[in-house]
Amino acid sequence: MPEMPEVQGLVEFLRERVTGLRITRAAVANIAALKTYDPPIDALKDAEITGAERHGKFVDLATTGPRLVFHLAKAGWLRWYDALPATVIRPGKTPIALRVALSDGSGFDLTEAGTKKSLAVYVVRDPADVPGIARLGPDPLDPAFDRDAFAALLEGRRTQIKGVLRDQAIIAGVGNAYSDEILHSAKMSPYALASTLSAEDVDRLYAAMTETLTDAVAAASGKPPAELKDAKRRGMQVHGRRGEACPVCGDEVRSVFFADNSLEYCPTCQTGGKILADRRLSRLLK
Ligand SMILES: [Zn+2]
Repeated sequence: MPEMPEVQGLVEFLRERVTGLRITRAAVANIAALKTYDPPIDALKDAEITGAERHGKFVDLATTGPRLVFHLAKAGWLRWYDALPATVIRPGKTPIALRVALSDGSGFDLTEAGTKKSLAVYVVRDPADVPGIARLGPDPLDPAFDRDAFAALLEGRRTQIKGVLRDQAIIAGVGNAYSDEILHSAKMSPYALASTLSAEDVDRLYAAMTETLTDAVAAASGKPPAELKDAKRRGMQVHGRRGEACPVCGDEVRSVFFADNSLEYCPTCQTGGKILADRRLSRLLK
């Protein structure tokens, strides 16, 4: 799943590449992906793109007409074409959810792999009309979001820090992968309760979060969409690296499995050597 750094990379790419172009066609191939009906998607035809912004993991293209907003969800991606192919898209028989054609012959598809479709497209007058954007918490790289603002968000929350970091209503843009990386960098257990963190823990976690995300945004910046996924994978120390050696201490990276995903961590760096229980197995045993 693309998270804040990759979405930021996409937004910068689009801002550079499509600002000033007109949308000549916006065609929905998977009707379930389009979450709005007013304004209609046809209102994008002939609108000129005036900019691109990121809100959490949402991409927001501003136009002289309505705004085109999308969220790539778990298995979605943007495929860019300098010359958009003329092939006809048959709804239902394609991973393409949306195709946008632009006035210089370029364009892009939003695609989604797998059977569970959750990529979402919105045509709105204001980005705040998208419910997922309206409820976003602060952006962790916003200069106003300092250590004390972060501490205030954690205070009194008797929930595991892993879940707090991933909750878009608390902090915008961090998902499963970067929360693993942030916690590894902070040498903190994913199960630590937010409300029990000491002032030093919060210092360390805040520094780990801003450094991890700043580095990842720098790595994503200037890369074309096709290279962003690999850049993300290369930058990971523990996420998606179960069984490999921790680059910090050499211990084996472990996973905890959940119903539809997993987290990775290093026991030596993060849990004092303790192996965390596999949630999937312990649920079966109950
Ligand atoms: Zn380690």
